[in-house]
Amino acid sequence: MCGMSFKLQEAPKVHEPVKAKFPVDVKILTQNAKRETVYDIIVLGGGPAALNAAIYGSRAGLSVLVLEKLPATGGFVVNTALVENWLGVESMSGFDLAAKMASHAAKFGAEIKTMTEVVGADLTGKVKKVKTADGSEYFGLTIIIATGTGHAKLGVPGEKEFFSKGISYCAPCDGMFFKGKKIAVVGGGNSAFSEAIFLSRIAKEVVIIHRRDAFRAEQALVNAAKKIQNISYLLNSTVSAFRGDKKLTSLVIKNAKSGKLETIQFEGAFIYVGLVPNTKLLGSGTSETSVGLAGVNVDEKGFIVTDEKMRTNIRGVFAAGDVRATPLRQIVTAASDGAIAAISAQEYIGESGIKEHLSEIKLIKPN
Ligand SMILES: Cc1cc2nc3c(=O)[nH]c(=O)nc-3n(C[C@H](O)[C@H](O)[C@H](O)COP(=O)(O)OP(=O)(O)OC[C@H]3O[C@@H](n4cnc5c(N)ncnc54)[C@H](O)[C@@H]3O)c2cc1C
Repeated sequence: MCGMSFKLQEAPKVHEPVKAKFPVDVKILTQNAKRETVYDIIVLGGGPAALNAAIYGSRAGLSVLVLEKLPATGGFVVNTALVENWLGVESMSGFDLAAKMASHAAKFGAEIKTMTEVVGADLTGKVKKVKTADGSEYFGLTIIIATGTGHAKLGVPGEKEFFSKGISYCAPCDGMFFKGKKIAVVGGGNSAFSEAIFLSRIAKEVVIIHRRDAFRAEQALVNAAKKIQNISYLLNSTVSAFRGDKKLTSLVIKNAKSGKLETIQFEGAFIYVGLVPNTKLLGSGTSETSVGLAGVNVDEKGFIVTDEKMRTNIRGVFAAGDVRATPLRQIVTAASDGAIAAISAQEYIGESGIKEHLSEIKLIKPN
């Protein structure tokens, strides 16, 4: 389960629906173009939001390119121990579910490129340009940003130093290294609880460290964890530092009420304290400002603001899934967003009339 925020967002600023057809900006396509293909939809990211957008886009008869930076698609699902809330599948490992999603998305003709990190985007023109880490450029009539989130860091001494030396953000990836050991799980949301339950089957002892005495996690998860004997709790407590030599050996814990510091021995720590949007590819904006990245409006935490059709403030640019300002971040909501975004992209392409002008465009290859 993932970190969720139920704080309702203010109604986003949305652009007017496309009313008139507009002329195609030929110049945009002639700048440094290396490729001659203009896709109907380019999806940035390869998680459930992206893959469902690919399915809906392809089935609507559109050409779809999915760009995923990792060697495999699936996003966070790949690294989720067990998924038990995906409709129709009572229980499945995240890895298996992600593999099914990938083959399903490819079945309808979407072109999926893994190991292709998007590092920049020019979203201003009628035809959008996306740059990837290998220096390639791709052109699309529409862009769906579905780059998800990354794990927030605690930002305390030792966190960087002991990453992969006892500190992890992924229980299914690293859990096996802690067989029979005493470990900490930091956080009080769904991710913390579901991964603590998973880790309790491997580790000798799991201690959930949470800054408050109430949890954000679903009650069902809290109840399940409370039945497990080797899970215990350190409440009203925060981690002030990670200590060790070559590997992590202890955590300095601060009591949030008394301020008292205590050093407690742990051989591992899994951190689930929230999510930060993966929007770096859009530019150097900061999440503290609502100044748009590449012109895309974001909220005060940096999540992309859309309307209910997943439209951003830029025409032809959509966002879907966890990267979006949304009250719930789960597989089902990401997939749903992806479907809506693809259908909205189809609607935009039809209404704008941009495709009718495509034959006028001549791509100029660099000398
Ligand atoms: C530990 C944990 C457990 C969870 N368990 C559950 C659960 O049991 N049930 C449930 O419903 N939800 C669960 N969730 C939440 C769920 O996984 C997410 O809500 C969902 O995966 C979001 O999908 P997404 O497509 O928006 O983003 P993601 O799944 O994050 O996918 C985004 C993708 O974009 C890629 N990407 C990022 N930047 C770039 C770039 N610049 N260029 C190219 N690609 C890029 C990433 O590599 C990633 O593959 C869990 C989450 C976590 C962290």
